[in-house]
Amino acid sequence: MGLIVQKFGGTSVADLGKIENIARRVIKTKNEGNKVVVVMSAMAGETDRLIELAHRAADEPDEREYDALVSIGEQVTVTLLSIVLNKMGYRAKSLLGFQAGILTDQSYKKARILHIDTGNIKKELRKRTIVVIAGFQGVDKENSITTLGRGGSDTSAVALAAALKADVCEIYTDVDGVYTADPSICSKARRLNKISYDEMLEMARAGAKVLQPRSVELAKKYEVPVYVRSSFTDNGGTLVTKEDKDMEKEVVCGVTYDRDQAKITVVRVPDRPGIAARLFTPLAQHNIVVDMIIQNASVDGFTDLTFTVSRKDMKKASELVKKVAKEISAKKIEIDDGVAKVSIIGVGMISHSGVAARMFSTLAREGINIMMISTSEIKISCVVQAKYTELAVSALHDAFITDK
Ligand code: ASP
Ligand code: MG
Repeated sequence: MGLIVQKFGGTSVADLGKIENIARRVIKTKNEGNKVVVVMSAMAGETDRLIELAHRAADEPDEREYDALVSIGEQVTVTLLSIVLNKMGYRAKSLLGFQAGILTDQSYKKARILHIDTGNIKKELRKRTIVVIAGFQGVDKENSITTLGRGGSDTSAVALAAALKADVCEIYTDVDGVYTADPSICSKARRLNKISYDEMLEMARAGAKVLQPRSVELAKKYEVPVYVRSSFTDNGGTLVTKEDKDMEKEVVCGVTYDRDQAKITVVRVPDRPGIAARLFTPLAQHNIVVDMIIQNASVDGFTDLTFTVSRKDMKKASELVKKVAKEISAKKIEIDDGVAKVSIIGVGMISHSGVAARMFSTLAREGINIMMISTSEIKISCVVQAKYTELAVSALHDAFITDK
């Protein structure tokens, strides 16, 4: 007898019929003798719809009310699933974030979970209830509803699994696991049976959409085994777990891309202490996440500085930087939203040499120019023209995974 957290999201909760499928899956797990905690995300497209409504109501909607509004999608799915489970003869109870004791900080739209008071959940589990919890939401110390950022119900599920010391956190989605590349643009992509937390984290950060990066951070910290699988089939999925010897044998486990990138260059910046700080501090104050940064070698006391941000932040970021650029007498700023980032990831890079060289020559062979490069211990990313995304991913997949 175990305790299993099962999270369902996206198109797998698209309508009532799909929710009935989920109910059958939950019942099967329950009948195998397990305690089951279900975490639901909203029906596909519902959160987008609510966000759009909020922005139609006001350009900059009040953040507290915004969170209370966009969290509603999850209230619909948890109650529907509970109703269906009850109809099928199983005791089930829906809990919203606050009822499940999910306490967060007060940073609306991207709140962090501070603590989960599991008393209420455990009380229900002792009564053999199937507990169905709304993902994506929590409550702050003033009893206001908060949300955890897009894709946040993955984080709800992993955090609950950690707090309840569950045996496994199963994430059911529309794909049957984590792939070596996005199968919709790379026909040779294949499913991984296992991937380490660190690799999964880099993949998620580098654009793989299957798990919210923060959920992987939590899974790693609390060593929660996460099993990503399909809610439509019984195919085996991918286990996200601690690193083992097999994983190191593979140099590269995945190739990812991120088209949500915009590049900003500040041309002819005086090369002296404090300039980078002045350029980037206003971005930080506006919560704009800067991804890659490069600064060229300086010539005659001047340098160029290039960085990337998410496309939605490009306008704001360029306004902020333009202001500073004027103050420091930089020559001009250039913006480019026709770029994408392609990355290769693998723990094996730590012990293999020549990986970067092979990545660059693979791109060169396809005539793809590299505009920026960044590396971590287990990842190499290149910014290229967006129109080459598919070509770059397929070529890199061929070089490192298919033909290795
Ligand atoms: N419904 C939320 C979103 O669309 C949370 C989630 O799906 O994980 O971002
Ligand atoms: Mg998701």
